[in-house]
Amino acid sequence: MPAPDLNTIVSLCKRRGFLFQSSEIYGGLESTWDYGPLGVELKNNVKRDWWRANVYDRDDMEGLDAAILMKREVWLYSGHEKTFHDPLVDCKKCRKRFRADLLEPGTGTCPECGGELTEPRQFNLMFRTHMGPVEEEGSRVYLRPETAQGIFVNYANVQTSMRRKLPFGIAQIGKAFRNEIVTGSFIFRTREFEQMEIEYFCKPGEDEKVHNQWVEQRMKWYLELGISSDRIRLYNVPKEDLAHYSKATVDIEYRYPMGWSEIEGIANRTDFDLASHSKSPKDNEGKRKNRHSNVDLTYFDPEKKEHFFPYVVEPSAGVDRIVLALLCEAYGERDTGKGRPRVVLSLNPSLAPIKAAVLPLKRNEPRIVQKAKSVKKRLSASLRAVYDDTGGIGKLYARQDEIGTPFCCTVDFQTLEDDTVTVRDRDTWEQTRVSVEKLSLYLSDRIFKAGYST
Ligand code: ATP
Repeated sequence: MPAPDLNTIVSLCKRRGFLFQSSEIYGGLESTWDYGPLGVELKNNVKRDWWRANVYDRDDMEGLDAAILMKREVWLYSGHEKTFHDPLVDCKKCRKRFRADLLEPGTGTCPECGGELTEPRQFNLMFRTHMGPVEEEGSRVYLRPETAQGIFVNYANVQTSMRRKLPFGIAQIGKAFRNEIVTGSFIFRTREFEQMEIEYFCKPGEDEKVHNQWVEQRMKWYLELGISSDRIRLYNVPKEDLAHYSKATVDIEYRYPMGWSEIEGIANRTDFDLASHSKSPKDNEGKRKNRHSNVDLTYFDPEKKEHFFPYVVEPSAGVDRIVLALLCEAYGERDTGKGRPRVVLSLNPSLAPIKAAVLPLKRNEPRIVQKAKSVKKRLSASLRAVYDDTGGIGKLYARQDEIGTPFCCTVDFQTLEDDTVTVRDRDTWEQTRVSVEKLSLYLSDRIFKAGYST
């Protein structure tokens, strides 16, 4: 059972330390969120799994971490200064602002109060700031609205330093900023968010095949994380809605409580970016199209002995949207036979913020407490474990279920005799006795096995 509505997830996240409103003590900054102690663990686990699947498990990928601030020319030649706009309309009566392209077509009135709307005007979504002490046109820089450009401007650096031949890709995880006109749905649409992007470079002509392969790969990743196949689907973006650089885009959509929405976009960016950032292409009059770049970004094919711009396929995912989808997907309530249902977060064990909680059966029995602390310490060498003695065992189990901890290890009197603990499974509530010596291995086996499904 997925989350019934978004409010259930918002309140669970706040109550249990996954997410807090930014600057809350000053009334909160609209649609900006801070990841709390459990949220940061979940988010890091998602990023780590993406990195493993896309960098470590493949032989054709490299990683990168480019700076957020880049020269203004990057955004001039990428086309963002001119085209990274959304159409903005204001209501003349209630003064609310809307994205014209998201309103019901043809009505022309305010969806909130029925008032008259202004004509749409183009609003650039890039956040501006300036470098150095003087604020002037020449010192302008932007907070990047996508991480992709950091990859394109480093394409030649990575290709030559790592001696790469086509096809190969570059992966990057990092913050992106968009001054969205309308935000909302918790962490779904915010102005500061994190992206996980791949730019995969291939020969022109192979791009469509490569595009299909990436769509398949990316879909598989979500299913392996435990997203149910009836809440995830592909959407072919119609030609008229494609971004300025895209020949074809397939979105991966998740069925959130508020409806089907994009979680990741996989675009065929052709040679648009590398050609735009290169000094080589000339216009009809023989003048350089890019007057600022000092490199030729063509690739030399040693077999055919020719130069060309590689084509690029870009799987671009939002970390925050994935975290939200996983929380919605994992949410469930289970009957305890004692009246109120118990919230259980059935996260894929490898993503769970805490992998094992070590609990003493009696917190006023020093030998048990000491043993439990030493078991926790031992586990911490290989996985995220916590020690908790702040309540009775039933209450402690319930708390761990609610935050998705796959295993609780209870230390009791028998532990002192035979050095075994009970391992309680979050999903089945079954208990097994496992020796302390083999506990790490036993848990790791069960946590990191592939193919988890809720
Ligand atoms: P949308 O149509 O929802 O505005 P987009 O098509 O503009 O998204 P892309 O430019 O394809 O988004 O960005 C790639 C990914 O980055 C998206 O699939 C999404 O997961 C994430 N993303 C984009 N904008 C936001 C945002 N404002 N807040 C959170 N994540 C975002």
